[in-house]
Amino acid sequence: TKFSDLKLDPKVLQAIAEAGYETPTPIQAGAIPHALEGRDVLGIAQTGTGKTASFTLPMITLLGRGRARARMPRSLVLAPTRELAAQVAENFDTYSKHTKLTKALLIGGVSFAEQDKLIDRGVDVLIATPGRLLDHFERGKLLLTGVQIMVVDEADRMLDMGFIPDIERIFQLTPFTRQTLFFSATMAPEIERITNTFLHNPAKIEV
Ligand code: AMP
Repeated sequence: TKFSDLKLDPKVLQAIAEAGYETPTPIQAGAIPHALEGRDVLGIAQTGTGKTASFTLPMITLLGRGRARARMPRSLVLAPTRELAAQVAENFDTYSKHTKLTKALLIGGVSFAEQDKLIDRGVDVLIATPGRLLDHFERGKLLLTGVQIMVVDEADRMLDMGFIPDIERIFQLTPFTRQTLFFSATMAPEIERITNTFLHNPAKIEV
């Protein structure tokens, strides 16, 4: 498989060419076509396999096909730690640099004021840790009813950190009709239960 076979937005193809990527990794070749068709994806992949691009590249492509909804985030990415969320945000910036898509990084250890400003102005994508996302929600400023694409990254680490109840709550705040891209290095019983509950006929890709 070549990146040019993957039906990604030309602006995304340009950005990954500039990043020096030549061929898709197995998780990318496996997940991207299903994600672009609108299917839910269950990716079993470790860090270092290129999984961040396997959800970010189709997400940017799908958002580019749709229309911005004033003030409503259309996509939500959840990561277990501040560092991982920041890394996803950095990747998103690299791959979306030729688009007009906007994002907010919602993580702890930073004042709410800056994050509130971005939310009020309106962004396409939220990249967040579960606790901080729920903090914003409970402060009454954030609505997730416009979320069309939800990503859960490193679900096994979320489980280790006790975030599964938060993840379930967040799933319930987003529309049933959302598309979900869900990644975990392992399939513990609790992870399996969550995917059975919230994913709809996912394409399963294991690398
Ligand atoms: P990840 O598993 O998402 O943390 O990605 C691991 C590293 O591989 C990151 O530094 C990416 O920038 C890089 N990477 C991801 N996909 C590709 C690719 N198709 N070709 C070359 N490098 C890649």
